[in-house]
Amino acid sequence: MARPSIRTRAAEQRAQQEAAHRVRRLRTVTGRNGSSCEVDGRWLVNFCGNDYLGLSQHFSINSALQDGAARNGYGSTGSPLVCGRHAAHVALERAIAEWLDYPRALLFDSGYVANLAVLQAFLGEGDLCVQDRLDHASLIDGARLSGAMLRRYPHGDAEGALRQLRSSVDGAAMVATDGVFSMDGDIAPLKQLALVSRVQHATFYVDDAHGIGVVGDEGRGCVAAAKLGPAEVPLQLVTLGKALGGYGAVVVGDAGLIEHLVQAARGFVYSTAPPPALAVASLQAVKMARSDHWRRERLQSLIARFREKMQQLGFDLPESATPIQPVPCGDERSALAMSAELEEEGFWVAAIRPPTVPDSGSRLRVTLSALHSNAEVNALVQALARARDNLPAR
Ligand SMILES: *Cc1c(COP(=O)(O)O)cnc(C)c1O
Repeated sequence: MARPSIRTRAAEQRAQQEAAHRVRRLRTVTGRNGSSCEVDGRWLVNFCGNDYLGLSQHFSINSALQDGAARNGYGSTGSPLVCGRHAAHVALERAIAEWLDYPRALLFDSGYVANLAVLQAFLGEGDLCVQDRLDHASLIDGARLSGAMLRRYPHGDAEGALRQLRSSVDGAAMVATDGVFSMDGDIAPLKQLALVSRVQHATFYVDDAHGIGVVGDEGRGCVAAAKLGPAEVPLQLVTLGKALGGYGAVVVGDAGLIEHLVQAARGFVYSTAPPPALAVASLQAVKMARSDHWRRERLQSLIARFREKMQQLGFDLPESATPIQPVPCGDERSALAMSAELEEEGFWVAAIRPPTVPDSGSRLRVTLSALHSNAEVNALVQALARARDNLPAR
């Protein structure tokens, strides 16, 4: 019997992706300046980044990074339980725990790793993980890695979550959801999901990658905005790569659960601790995200402006009060054509296609940043309308 060759199989997959207009291209940025990027030799206004508060290049964070490196060097030299844990990591964790009013926090290399690590550490075979259909890939992958049974409910449907929880009563159960949905920008029904979790004795885990810094008082995110806390949401993911403008992730939770992660989360135990200088920089970013209210206010005004102007030009936008503003395109080819035309006009808006979004959910995922000017947003809306009107009838 001939074994299948991974090379042949990869080539077949590639051919299928090409036929379906789903091949993605790696783009390289050669310069950044405020809301603009130089991409493949041309400057574009970036409307697809996650730098919602505009902190990714802030001079005071840059200088914290430089100071951190001058004092502590480049690398951490080990995993946290061996020798890699540094006071800068602890200071960052304390600041985030205090900001969100949680007892304890733990730093991970990235949000992707943190989600794998949390689900793997708390769930195993015979357990149940109930998730929103549109949850981030890292939550899905974490459930798979854990060996628990993964059951998904229709988007935003807390009753659907309840039905899934009732379907299995034996093992431990966890409900996991994005706070702000990464491709849609809407917010999960956290109060209802918290209630369902409590009634069903399930642990409720919220991944607020896109809500932290942006949503609610002092940017404390969706959980705090829903007037929930550690009692209802014992574990929460905060990422440092979105509104905080940097890289890494922190899980906040009650002290016992976080201590279990220290001992059992493989993505924490078996990976090199992040560079201390990065934690010094992130601490400065947290301080600014917390206190610079004007960045959130500016963002809200741009969101209102974008939605109003789009609706005036006949776009039917899905509900979203966050900087993630999807513009539905239907099929892959339309999304690609609109993205290419926007690029011609000087705007960078990536086309998001399956499998990142469901079939026929192809879209332009427009994201706004406090750094965008009113004029840039106005010009983007005009360019979007022209790109839509130039689509061939299909
Ligand atoms: C971006 C994202 C992650 C992954 O975080 P990284 O730090 O980029 O690895 C996890 N969950 C959600 C909802 C995200 O949007």
